[in-house]
Amino acid sequence: MLEIGLTGGIGSGKSTVAGLLVDRGATLLDADAIVRELQRPGTPVFAAMVARWGDEVVAEDGTLDRGAVAARAFTDPDELVALNAIVHPAVGDEMTRRRRDLARTDDTVVLDIPLLVESGHEGLGGVIVVDVDPEVALARLVASRGLTAEDAGNRIALQASREERLARADLVVDNGGSLDDLAHEADRAWAWITTLERPLPGHNVHRIGSRGERN
Ligand code: ADP
Repeated sequence: MLEIGLTGGIGSGKSTVAGLLVDRGATLLDADAIVRELQRPGTPVFAAMVARWGDEVVAEDGTLDRGAVAARAFTDPDELVALNAIVHPAVGDEMTRRRRDLARTDDTVVLDIPLLVESGHEGLGGVIVVDVDPEVALARLVASRGLTAEDAGNRIALQASREERLARADLVVDNGGSLDDLAHEADRAWAWITTLERPLPGHNVHRIGSRGERN
């Protein structure tokens, strides 16, 4: 297994790039998708969130109202610390378990981790950062996810800066152009991945994120 960390600010186009890399042969581990699985009704993560914020974060269908959680966590630093304390250890454990299962294979595994730069990424074969002007990311988030400009701006401000992220990149994917341009960038990224040294199957997998939580 060769592991590639994929990160970028919210709205940078990470998920889109992850899909393009899967089309080119990668196996995807998507931290956000794992979070959604781990907070289904009946799970310890779901119970911890309801214990913290009450029924107001439960939607009518009984599932977690992610928007209601976000409204608390992304406007109050203490609530964000509480949210991260509930979610991050659980997602870290699950991610490590799945990576250990994949370590036996010769897959190219792309780890889509929004906060990779903030949490640390020792031991990966390489780190790809999807880069875009934060103003462009904000406009795309408002257009695609129904966030207000204020919500989107708050979330961008809580993450590492563009410069901090770029400083950690082994390869930068530029998403300032069209989706066609992005597909060419994905080709370039895939060509770069094929030049990397591949660890032998069965090598040790260390937990990501041991540097601690910043936000
Ligand atoms: P992230 O996973 O980094 O938050 P997404 O991949 O979900 O970002 O992209 C955010 C939104 O912007 C999506 O609706 C996506 O389709 C759109 N998008 C991504 N890249 C481009 C682009 N180059 N041109 C136009 N829209 C884009």
